[in-house]
Amino acid sequence: TQMANPGVRELQPYQAGKPMDELQRELGLDNVVKLASNENPLGISARVKDALQAEVDDLIRYPDANGFYLKSKIADKFSVAANQVTLGNGSNDVLELLARTFVNEQHEVIFSQHAFVVYPLVTKAIGATPVAVPAKDYGHDLDAMLAAITPKTRMIFVANPNNPTGTFLSTEALYNFIKQVPDNVLVVLDEAYYEYIPSDERAPSIEWLAEFDNLVVTRTFSKAYGLAGLRAGFSVSSAAIADLMNRIRQPFNVNALSLKAAEVALDDDEYLAQAVRVNAEGMQQLVGFCEQHGYNYIPSYGNFLTIEVGANAAEIYQKLLHEGVIVRPVAGYELPNHLRVSIGLPKENQAFIEAMERIA
Ligand code: PMP
Repeated sequence: TQMANPGVRELQPYQAGKPMDELQRELGLDNVVKLASNENPLGISARVKDALQAEVDDLIRYPDANGFYLKSKIADKFSVAANQVTLGNGSNDVLELLARTFVNEQHEVIFSQHAFVVYPLVTKAIGATPVAVPAKDYGHDLDAMLAAITPKTRMIFVANPNNPTGTFLSTEALYNFIKQVPDNVLVVLDEAYYEYIPSDERAPSIEWLAEFDNLVVTRTFSKAYGLAGLRAGFSVSSAAIADLMNRIRQPFNVNALSLKAAEVALDDDEYLAQAVRVNAEGMQQLVGFCEQHGYNYIPSYGNFLTIEVGANAAEIYQKLLHEGVIVRPVAGYELPNHLRVSIGLPKENQAFIEAMERIA
């Protein structure tokens, strides 16, 4: 292991849960409710399912290496040129591509405390220096992040909304921040939960690309579009940045089924609207539970709610498991007293609420 890159030796593997059926068997339960990975509870859209079935016969072929149709659709939808779009095997892939394209061992990469785990992961894998800036009210402290910029800073990750806290930055705060970041520092604005933001509060982030050459916006099909298992995400940036990323991208990094599903999902307005509605209702349900029982929670713009359950959060997590409800401990995000609960269908949220009432 001494042969590994120093940054790699320091890393801890991504903590993923056990497969659901395995856990179910282990716990001796007939049914478990998984509210742990911010997935879409609606199930796959009927239109996507049909398209996937039609695609199966062509799977002996390599996928379209450039994702021509999906990129064109994304470009049309967001009024950009197709050569500004970079596709990834999930937006995680795009985040990694960005780091590998622009960052080296000499650089520093800034992100917020309690920010998404992939930012330190891709930074350390390269051997660059991660700079985690203390959060303010669980969210990004943008002034402190600006103050953390040094001549070595090459990239800043900002998630809006943030995972696992669900915190949100206003359009004005975000715009003023980007304006103050020096041109030679890339701002990666991760909008994985963008579609859940009420439309009147969304930043025109993709429009800002016309003003800021050092801005990259990332989005995903994993959340509101309901395709987490297929792994499809993308970034929109200047054409020059997309060109550089494309040079190191693995050819065929997005598989044929994912390309097809994402194309169909992008047009499926009905599914998206339903996903957003179910999420808003489920959020009310969980917030109502917190308020009724006096739990503090971090107000969330995502498809999850992070609840302060107390110093025995690890124990509550285990007890919930034995009740057949899987949530996500966030101690690894320096939130040892919180649990993150993804918004499910009403009956799944109810299962969590009832399990909490039984074990409390
Ligand atoms: N960014 C944030 C903030 C996330 O929470 C997630 C999913 N957990 C991702 C990016 C990556 O999602 P995916 O790779 O599935 O697109």
